[in-house]
Amino acid sequence: MSNFDSPRRSVAFIGSECHPFVKTGGLGDVMYALPRELVNLNCDVRVILPRYECIPAKYQEKMVYRGEFYMDLGHTGRNVYIGIMEYIEDGVVYDFIDNQEFFSGAKPYTNLVDDIPKYCLFGKAALAVLNYLDWIPDIIHCHDWQAGLIPLYLRTTFATTPVARAKSVITIHNLRFQGIYNIPTIKYWSGLPDFLFDGSILKQGQDDANMFKGGLAYADRITTVSNTYAQEIQTAEYGENLDGHLRYHNTKLRGIVNGIDYGMWDPATDKALTVNYDISNVLEKKPEAKIALQQELGLAVDPGKYVIGLISRLTDQKGLDLVNAVIPELMDGNTQIVVLGTGDKVYEDSFRAYETAYPGQFAACIQYDEARAHRIYAGADSLLVPSRFEPCGLTQLNAMHYGTVPIVRETGGLKDTVEPYNQYYLSGNGFTFDRYDAGLLLGAINRSKTFYFEDRYHWDEMVQRNMAKDVSWENSAKQYKDLYLELTQW
Ligand code: ADP
Repeated sequence: MSNFDSPRRSVAFIGSECHPFVKTGGLGDVMYALPRELVNLNCDVRVILPRYECIPAKYQEKMVYRGEFYMDLGHTGRNVYIGIMEYIEDGVVYDFIDNQEFFSGAKPYTNLVDDIPKYCLFGKAALAVLNYLDWIPDIIHCHDWQAGLIPLYLRTTFATTPVARAKSVITIHNLRFQGIYNIPTIKYWSGLPDFLFDGSILKQGQDDANMFKGGLAYADRITTVSNTYAQEIQTAEYGENLDGHLRYHNTKLRGIVNGIDYGMWDPATDKALTVNYDISNVLEKKPEAKIALQQELGLAVDPGKYVIGLISRLTDQKGLDLVNAVIPELMDGNTQIVVLGTGDKVYEDSFRAYETAYPGQFAACIQYDEARAHRIYAGADSLLVPSRFEPCGLTQLNAMHYGTVPIVRETGGLKDTVEPYNQYYLSGNGFTFDRYDAGLLLGAINRSKTFYFEDRYHWDEMVQRNMAKDVSWENSAKQYKDLYLELTQW
């Protein structure tokens, strides 16, 4: 059956970031890649985003004005300007909501004082834009807390308008961030009816409202980005205080693992790389990519060294306290470590200190640099992802696709995508450990090292197995399409 035999559905994707316009993490990748894949599955997709001032000029210049209107904003008594700027690429329409007062600044997110009003406005404006454009989708697909109020607006403020025909889906990319603020503030900016602020929908604790919680209660379906995370968030350990709420709503919850965009991530054509390769020549080219990386970062140039990469937001979520604890034991003269990331000062400083302590062996790149990230995926032998929790994780997928061996903690999407190496069956993609414990991380890294130095033949087989593994969006996008069809059976 060709993809176009599957019934056509229209979907509005609504979220707060999207590559290449604005990205701080995995959500930006998904908002870029999944709509493209859905277009191939006979979906008509519009992506609705804030027109942040920080979107690079080269995209701003290509946006085309589609209209404007004024919208009342919560209980502020104000009518605010909503402009629509459009940008079309590869069959996907991007509609940017323009309001200079709310979307100014050098970064998409600042602090909750500013972000709560920003996303109260954004959610309402997104639905108003669909009505204004007279483009009523079958499905409204909301992403993370910033779009959390949309399922509520849809069934209250907009209940008697055309857009209410749509079904809503909300995807949890990261439950840690929920958009929690005191009830009067969220009432003031959203204008949502009082009954929603009771205990089972928006209310949290005594005085607060939780935008994500409300969206999860009112959406027709909830998805999250891996099966394991879908189970984990129903437990107290991973539920971020919403485990009870999610258990209550679990009949509408399912996990669909993320993929990566093969157009953006392909070592054979990747323009960021100095050495391109594919599965047929990876074994001879990857050492060249490693040498290029060592030269770029001022490491001792020697393809015989074992190079471990880490590409990550430097926050507690990512297991960096474990990494910090084991570094001195890894620096044995045969191993090099490359860290790329920004975030908490304590980690930035400790990685810089390691660079000073181990010159030529440890590189701390405290920056956000997409091109360098690509060269690390290509040049490293293995990549660390020892997260405390990880809804899906994309870096382990990028790594495998570039012939690099992931070393991960068995949580969330890491557990679902990295099969541990089995020396009897000669199967698996990487090295894993279960409990959140520095000793277990060290053990996993040491197993990988022993394997690399003592059994290169089978290591190389794993490199090729990883490159051959299907980590594309194709299968996952089909699961989203099936979900949309389930919700719209006519
Ligand atoms: P999260 O969304 O929690 O940050 P993911 O693993 O889902 O983690 O996605 C991270 C994405 O951001 C990957 O595409 C990764 O390559 C990229 N990334 C993370 N840190 C950096 C950095 N410092 N420079 C460039 N890219 C980065």
